[in-house]
Amino acid sequence: MRMSANKVKRSKIRAIFISHLHGDHVFGLPGLLTSMSLSGHKGLIEVFGPPGIKGFIEDTLSYTQSQLGFQVQFHELNPLGLTEVFTSKHLSVYAFPLKHRIPTCGYLFKELPKLRGLRKDKIEQYNIPVDKILEIKSGADFHLQNGEVISNEFLTIDPSKPVSFAYCTDTVFDPEIISFINSVDLLYHEATFCNDMQSLAEERFHSTAQDAARIAHLAGVGKLVIGHFSSRYKDLEIFEEEARQVFENTDLAIEGRLFEIKS
Ligand SMILES: [Zn+2]
Repeated sequence: MRMSANKVKRSKIRAIFISHLHGDHVFGLPGLLTSMSLSGHKGLIEVFGPPGIKGFIEDTLSYTQSQLGFQVQFHELNPLGLTEVFTSKHLSVYAFPLKHRIPTCGYLFKELPKLRGLRKDKIEQYNIPVDKILEIKSGADFHLQNGEVISNEFLTIDPSKPVSFAYCTDTVFDPEIISFINSVDLLYHEATFCNDMQSLAEERFHSTAQDAARIAHLAGVGKLVIGHFSSRYKDLEIFEEEARQVFENTDLAIEGRLFEIKS
């Protein structure tokens, strides 16, 4: 429902990454899969998550006598450190352990290095054929008929830097994750409570806004987005205020808000 409201195309989904099996993180998944099926989705969907994710989905589909019109491949993860779990043309995804009340995975999404950008004026000037373009975007020089070599730096410009995003929820304050998420451009970290509930946060294996900000600071991330706020707080400004005392570049994950990941 949130994807539809925010115009995220479900038809583009290839892989789904689940952090843990608490209901607020997983109850939506059977509904998402069955509604994708109803709207005619055909391609393979890969689902990643802690052990139990496969049984949870298969049992739910079975009890509700639901059938999917596409294949689902499950990957049950139990990462001990940073582990590459998925790769596509544009990015690699890594899982790592978080400390919560049940097995929980954090995820790191790293864009792969991009091909070089073309200088169209130069491509036209030297009449470079289409079948050479990929080589040139990959860094090759161009050889003219007369033996002259046109160096790649003359034909291309540097591509934009690949960006990275880390997703850490749910978790208690855990400095062990810092090496996994070091220098990411955007960190999403849970912040269930504020300073007034520090001890409850530790007891429930959740974080406060300042715990999240400390992780962001120690990992030297570009930007922090916090979410997963406890419903006992009516006013969310306090989360922003407390986090910014430790890490200035913090924003709240408000429903529907868009964040551009910049390097
Ligand atoms: Zn949880």
